[in-house]
Amino acid sequence: MKQCPKCGLNKKIDEFYFLRNPKARAGGYYMRICKKCSYARGKKWRSENLERSRETESKSRKRLRVRRRLAWLAARIEFGKMCPTCGLNKKLDEYQIRKSARDGRSSECKICINKKKKIWVANNHEYVLQDSRRRNKKMVSNLGPCYVKRIIKKKYKIPFEDTSKDMIDRERDIITINRMLKEKHKCQ
Ligand SMILES: [Zn+2]
Ligand SMILES: [Zn+2]
Repeated sequence: MKQCPKCGLNKKIDEFYFLRNPKARAGGYYMRICKKCSYARGKKWRSENLERSRETESKSRKRLRVRRRLAWLAARIEFGKMCPTCGLNKKLDEYQIRKSARDGRSSECKICINKKKKIWVANNHEYVLQDSRRRNKKMVSNLGPCYVKRIIKKKYKIPFEDTSKDMIDRERDIITINRMLKEKHKCQ
């Protein structure tokens, strides 16, 4: 039993709020006044400080939202989610990265996306071919890193992963000079 100094009544301990505080010896402490009195005091304070009470309320609501979101995300990471296309529950790393999504991953799993992509490519064969040709042309004229790497591999038998940025830059200069010489030759 504990006496509330506000209403003067003796009440059971669970009629007092327990305030958690990890620094306190018992992990927290009971409020001096009972639940009923502290509720009445809070109500009175809110009616007298409307502006500030609204402010703290919106702040605490915001905190709650953040906490809920973090809990939701933690659950997503631990248990994964269901792919709506194949109906299987999969871990997040089996989904593609999508920054705009709430959990940062695509809604469909990688396998389903790849399947759909394959079907699309088969149905749009002509377009894909043209697009790859167009891209290739662009890469050749811009001397993109992939194109230069391919040339280095052909010329010096150096695999892709061993080509450094310096090598690419040097080879790019050589190609540029050769192209210019060729152009000159054509003009003469
Ligand atoms: Zn009381
Ligand atoms: Zn799927």
